[in-house]
Amino acid sequence: MSSSTPVTSLTVLRGVPVVSGVQYAPVIRPGRLPALDAPAHEVAEADRPAESARFTAAAAAVATRLRDRAAHATGAASEVLAATATLAQDRAWLGAAEKRITAGAPAVRAVTEAVEQFVDLFTQLGGLMAERVTDLRDIRDRVVAELSGLPEPGVPLPDVPSVLCAEDLAPADTAGLDPTLVVGLATTLGGPTSHTAIIARQLGIPCVVAVGGLDAVDADTLVLLDGTRGTVTVDPDPAQAAAAVAAAAQSAALARQWTGPGATADGHAVAILVNVQDGAAARAARQTPAEGVGLFRTELCFLNRDTEPTVDEQAQIYREVLDAFDGAKVVIRTLDAGSDKPLKFVGHPEEANPALGVRGIRIAAGNPGILERQLEAIAAAGGDWVMAPMIATAAEAESFATRARAYGLTPGVMIEVPAAALLADKILEHVEFLSIGTNDLAQYTMAADRMSAELAGLTDPWQPAVLALVATATRAGAAAGKPVGVCGEAAADPLLACVLVGLGVTSLSAAGAAVPGVGAQLAQVRLQQCRDAADAVLATATAEEARAAAAALLS
Ligand code: PEP
Ligand code: MG
Repeated sequence: MSSSTPVTSLTVLRGVPVVSGVQYAPVIRPGRLPALDAPAHEVAEADRPAESARFTAAAAAVATRLRDRAAHATGAASEVLAATATLAQDRAWLGAAEKRITAGAPAVRAVTEAVEQFVDLFTQLGGLMAERVTDLRDIRDRVVAELSGLPEPGVPLPDVPSVLCAEDLAPADTAGLDPTLVVGLATTLGGPTSHTAIIARQLGIPCVVAVGGLDAVDADTLVLLDGTRGTVTVDPDPAQAAAAVAAAAQSAALARQWTGPGATADGHAVAILVNVQDGAAARAARQTPAEGVGLFRTELCFLNRDTEPTVDEQAQIYREVLDAFDGAKVVIRTLDAGSDKPLKFVGHPEEANPALGVRGIRIAAGNPGILERQLEAIAAAGGDWVMAPMIATAAEAESFATRARAYGLTPGVMIEVPAAALLADKILEHVEFLSIGTNDLAQYTMAADRMSAELAGLTDPWQPAVLALVATATRAGAAAGKPVGVCGEAAADPLLACVLVGLGVTSLSAAGAAVPGVGAQLAQVRLQQCRDAADAVLATATAEEARAAAAALLS
């Protein structure tokens, strides 16, 4: 093993699932650029123009090669390669390298230092910019290899179907992958929006990102990669691994055949809905059997905006989603800004614990009129169902409901804070429906940051404490005769979705890619099986026990 972290047979490494599917195969790792000591000497003044020309030619050669590959690829892969080629010719970092060469640095050192300067900047900016750091380092390695007369670094061509494991994958490498030879992807870094994730989705390669401990798994080790659960099992029992692959293939076949609408095998109807973030996603989601939208995350439309969009602009954007689902149920969530999704125009205060700070519905107080303008836009677009994020008290729910009704909208709230789940009955006195956000509900119930790969075991939605709070909310819904849905990631796990139905959930809303799998699994089981599984799960003490109990009753 290449690291001091002990990774032994059967170790289960956890990450963030990106593309579902299960594969059992040996590991391959991308070739790295051999460690090159950046030369310390200065280039004589007379030789600097030549050194500069050498650098310009190397950067241009790298960009040309990437553009050629873009021309031979299609879809997202082609776009990613073209974007990397553009970055290879980006004037900002080229200029920074040139400046160093003019001052006497050899080209290899100039490239390394200039790229690191921008890596620091991107890392500080965080979010999507930080995910571009891998792209920059990839360009650095390619230009340095070119300058040093070495072959381009990248993914080796495997002899047998393999799982590609890497710290992170350069977009240019991922875009050229052959899905018949690279059957799984796992990375130590990267988020669900990284280029690795985007390409993996396009190529349909099962993928897990942000896998803790992956660096210690060497090439040729056999692993079981589960892109649905987000796990990589090192050296699993071969028979169990083969069974897991076969079961996943069978589920995938069932999912492909499922056409909706959502119901158990004995006809108990459960609306299967989809989560979207803009019109394009809604139009794509319309191709799935989803009956409507259970969560439209409006804040994601405005992450790059410096100023608040006008009511008209907002209405146009919301109308795109409503039009895509033409008359079907669409639940629009008001801005859930703050924490991991800051909006520039909201003016977030500096906070020590932003996840516990001014986010969700709490931004309305410091931004007078922002909620009203959004509600006005939703009404103007022809929306009906609207819900508020991060509700903690019945008073907040009442205030939101009054404001939403003033615009003729049907108000609901998200249940993401344990306090709201515990007092769901009081909240339901004011609103027409609840939607449980299990991502935040798990975060706040377990006091564990949902972004932390290290704490993924705690934020697992199978945690019985989280499911006990779901049960409290669904009981309140049943007593009030009002719908209670789930729109967090829990609804995307087919087995857990059945448990949620057993707990009394009336709708399930998940990412488009997860919809067929959830619908197909629900269609395999009877309502009583779901209820038995729910009872069994509530009697367990750990997420592992909960999973096992449900699997035993629902398989
Ligand atoms: C949730 O918290 O489960 C949820 C659906 O909201 P978001 O993931 O956008 O915070
Ligand atoms: Mg949330």
